[in-house]
Amino acid sequence: MTKSKLAMFGGRPVRRKVYPEYNSLGREEKMAAMRVMDSGRLSCFYGSNDPKFFYGGDEVRSLEKEWGRVFGTKYAVSMNSATSALYSALGAIGIGPGDEVIVPPTTMSASVAGVILYGGIPCFADVERDRYCIDPQSIEKLVTRRSKAIVVVHLFGQPADMDGIMAIARKHKLKVIEDAAQAPMASYKGRPVGTIGDIGVYSLNCHKVIQCGEGGVAVTGDPELCKRMQLIRNHAEVVISEGMRVDSPLNLIGFNYRLTEIQAAIAREQLKKLSKLNHSRIELAEYLREKLNAFPFFYLAPVRNDCVHVYYVFPWNYVKAKLGIGRDTLLEALWKEGIDQISGGYVLPLYMQRIFRERKAFKSGYPFTHPENLPEKKYPKGICPVAEKLWKEDLMVSNICHPPVKRRDIDDFINALEKVVDNLDALKRYEND
Ligand SMILES: *Cc1c(COP(=O)(O)O)cnc(C)c1O
Repeated sequence: MTKSKLAMFGGRPVRRKVYPEYNSLGREEKMAAMRVMDSGRLSCFYGSNDPKFFYGGDEVRSLEKEWGRVFGTKYAVSMNSATSALYSALGAIGIGPGDEVIVPPTTMSASVAGVILYGGIPCFADVERDRYCIDPQSIEKLVTRRSKAIVVVHLFGQPADMDGIMAIARKHKLKVIEDAAQAPMASYKGRPVGTIGDIGVYSLNCHKVIQCGEGGVAVTGDPELCKRMQLIRNHAEVVISEGMRVDSPLNLIGFNYRLTEIQAAIAREQLKKLSKLNHSRIELAEYLREKLNAFPFFYLAPVRNDCVHVYYVFPWNYVKAKLGIGRDTLLEALWKEGIDQISGGYVLPLYMQRIFRERKAFKSGYPFTHPENLPEKKYPKGICPVAEKLWKEDLMVSNICHPPVKRRDIDDFINALEKVVDNLDALKRYEND
């Protein structure tokens, strides 16, 4: 067989169409939104101790009930985003100056930002080389007298090592917040992630597996944490002054994190579709996994034992030494072949963001220079070598494991990879020029 020329050197690309976009919305969501429109009540919240107003309208309450039932958790608190849900969670567990929260660097920035908002100090633990979640061994090394909580992120849809993490949390009496924004109904030893720690958080943002435009849900089994999150969602200080009883008023400055009725109505329909949508992702991901495993320059760790990975994103490791070209060259070649839904590195490790490098969040250096947070925590390069190497060299991610993508669309990706292998010498020359 004569080898065909790579598109980046003027050959014909393997694929000419862009990958089809994911859309989880259908007729049911449209009808649900119309139902709310017809009711004329787009939100029923009010910053008041009267239960009729404090808990929101019918759609919001029904969503919370149904969410709790599906996830097997006692309390669910809807919010206008997972970011809001994370902030409320950190507020609810009482984070403040003098507290350290152990977090991963490889995640969406909102997993960590709330720690600073409440005056605490994020401490970055490294991640696992091939499953990308926070590494229990690295957590253990960061525990100090000041440690208060761990934020666990079930990154890309795969459960983190919850046994290891919960053991450390129990030993040192740390709270655990699970950011399951990317992993709704992923499970760890039979339990949905988000329901294992003290509080779990899910996202209903438009980029996520299920959505209502913007939205989020926090779950907990603890009635006091539930109440505190409801208060933070809805003008806590007013509600408390009207007579709501709380163990401690600390951190209970209210925001408006409330979800509207239309969003809740749409989210209820999306929740019904979650299992089916996850299933389609898993099927495509298993197909892609098997294909990618045939390339010796890729490494795919098996899914963690006794876990369900829901593949919000499909990740794997690139082993440069086995192919001999850099990840950027490989990506460039694949993009030119028309494989658009792949990229390298995911996000900058969070401690390399300016807010950590310069430690400028609020005036006067707060919270980094607050007396209770001294000596000032620094975030030099190199504190999480695995996360940095993944970002710079090893991690590849793809966004093609979702409907309406078909197996033949995945085959295009595989054909493009084979073409790259056939043209390796040309790529090496290109890289050396
Ligand atoms: C998307 C995402 C969030 C934030 O969700 P929003 O609903 O957009 O606020 C938080 N954490 C992770 C890991 C995410 O992927």
